[in-house]
Amino acid sequence: MVKAEGVHKSFGAVQVLKGIDLEVRSGEVFCLIGPSGSGKSTFLRCINHLEKINAGRLYVDGELVGYRQRGDRLHELKDTEVALKRRDIGMVFQRFNLFPHKTAVENVMEAPVQVRGVPRQAAWQRAMQLLERVGLADKAGNYPSQLSGGQQQRVAIARALAMDPKLMLFDEPTSALDPELVGDVLDVMRDLARSGMTMVVVTHEMGFAREVGDSLVFMDGGVVVEAGDPREVLTDPKEERTKAFLSKVL
Ligand code: ATP
Ligand code: MG
Repeated sequence: MVKAEGVHKSFGAVQVLKGIDLEVRSGEVFCLIGPSGSGKSTFLRCINHLEKINAGRLYVDGELVGYRQRGDRLHELKDTEVALKRRDIGMVFQRFNLFPHKTAVENVMEAPVQVRGVPRQAAWQRAMQLLERVGLADKAGNYPSQLSGGQQQRVAIARALAMDPKLMLFDEPTSALDPELVGDVLDVMRDLARSGMTMVVVTHEMGFAREVGDSLVFMDGGVVVEAGDPREVLTDPKEERTKAFLSKVL
């Protein structure tokens, strides 16, 4: 579903990604861990072309997201073409990014109505189903300011799902939450994983990675240091850098 080949990304003179190779299979939960500044968020943003890459290739479902390839050359796609491809990729950030002046159900309806042209009534029905799925049907009329952080994050997940994505990207979705709110969000993600959604999850929740993850990559300094089954990597890491990192977070 996602294939990265030699992905490089720099900001000015700062090289952040130094040749990332990895593959996310369809239907799997792929966890990405690593120290602060190692390039995890940057890599996620490259997947849906919120950042341009400097070298390498990134495929989602067999297609380049931001480019068209002719021979060996890449041609950048127009914003409208990128937007079309990005519809298939849902993203949930650390901060909830809901529209503050819209209710929960309006937030979930927004993209299907505005982007897809779904009639409001149909979009409302689907949005209510999605809110039900994340356990928030009774909060449909609340504004973000009237929801807890965990509830806002579950609305954000419902909002991403409303576009029927093939792939969901999560960037530390629980790290801004009070500890007692983390569980509900992880439960929603666990359900989503069970439903067969392909998910790339940047997380510090090692318990979640171990229990729900199918693959895990430890990144440091813009490279993949170690990859494998989460249970193996987390309990018996092979690389010194992985051991050092895990000794701090576990
Ligand atoms: P964290 O765990 O703290 O979220 P991360 O692994 O997600 O860290 P990134 O956010 O990908 O790390 O950042 C990697 C490096 O790239 C950092 O050194 C950061 O300062 C740099 N960086 C990220 N975005 C930009 C930008 N837009 N301009 C310049 N530098 C950037
Ligand atoms: Mg980050």
